Amino acid sequence: MSRHGMSLALCALIAGASALQSQGTGRGASGAGRGGGAAVLPPAPPGDADTLPPAKYFGVTEYDLARTKLEKLVKPGGFAVYIVTDMEGLAGVVNNGREMSTGRSGNSPDHQRFRQELTDELNAAIAGARLGGATQFFVVEGHGGNNFRNVLVDKVDPDAILLRGWPRPNVMETGVNAKMNMMMVVGNHPNAGTPGIIAHSYALGSALTVNGIKLNESGISAFVGAEFGVPLGMVAGDDSYAAEMKETFPSAEVVTVKVAMSGAGGAMLPFARVHAQIKAAATKAVQRAKAGQLKLVTFAKPYHIAWCIRNTFAQPVYEVMARPAGFAIRPDSASGPRCFTYDTNKAEEIGTIMNLVEWAALKP
Ligand SMILES: [Zn+2]
Repeated sequence: MSRHGMSLALCALIAGASALQSQGTGRGASGAGRGGGAAVLPPAPPGDADTLPPAKYFGVTEYDLARTKLEKLVKPGGFAVYIVTDMEGLAGVVNNGREMSTGRSGNSPDHQRFRQELTDELNAAIAGARLGGATQFFVVEGHGGNNFRNVLVDKVDPDAILLRGWPRPNVMETGVNAKMNMMMVVGNHPNAGTPGIIAHSYALGSALTVNGIKLNESGISAFVGAEFGVPLGMVAGDDSYAAEMKETFPSAEVVTVKVAMSGAGGAMLPFARVHAQIKAAATKAVQRAKAGQLKLVTFAKPYHIAWCIRNTFAQPVYEVMARPAGFAIRPDSASGPRCFTYDTNKAEEIGTIMNLVEWAALKP
């Protein structure tokens, strides 16, 4: 995901936080097993007003609406595949500054080249899935650089429906629902704190955990998908990411596209070989899904979520990230000064909290 700290804004979650405290309404306080009665952070100092508070901006938190609308686009019958895409985990990618966003020029040639690679790996996954019997393809633009608009719209498979743009509810798993038959991931990266290429997770300083289990960004998407019965069939990224996914999602097909030797370097496997391997893995994944061989990875409810915000964010921005509007998160000072926990029975709420954290750092 990344490209944080480019556009900073202050946040007036004060309204959300104090309303929550006083009324005990909203998601956090009232929900069963969801952070009820827990202390929330004191209101932000006056004057730290967010110019675009999420409540005033359509599309930051409306995940219910997104799901309802996407369900209507899924044709009955056939086999629908939901593909989460990112860029840091693409074949050939090593450099965050030049390759992952448009850069200062607004048109970095390296970024453009890797938009092509993103589209190529995506098209390989779609072609492979189609060979396995898939008939519908829903694609999530999950890379924050260029505001979640990186797939080349003129070169992507003509059957692909793109979930594109920012803001967008639950940006890494927008609208995932029970009508999808399988999830796949291309171009994602290892978790924050893992030795791998451009390893990170949202704006977090360390891995988010669910019931103590570490989940990276695509792991969170798969966790939300699993709540709707959507199994994870195939993933592609560097060897560190591959190891993480094999550990948490053992029944998924895993394609290694490069071998990390630092956070910004390693051995890059040839593009043609990677595309062929992604295509073959996607075919196998659909066939195994149809044969009922893919295992759903689910967690016991209520989910106990823990995360820490990166230390690099300036205090005003951190203050916003620390008060996701409508969620009674609890400070977890035992884990660190910028750490929190939250309990919920709804996986989509984790996607939304991460979306609100993202919104604090990334404005269109
Ligand atoms: Zn990314």
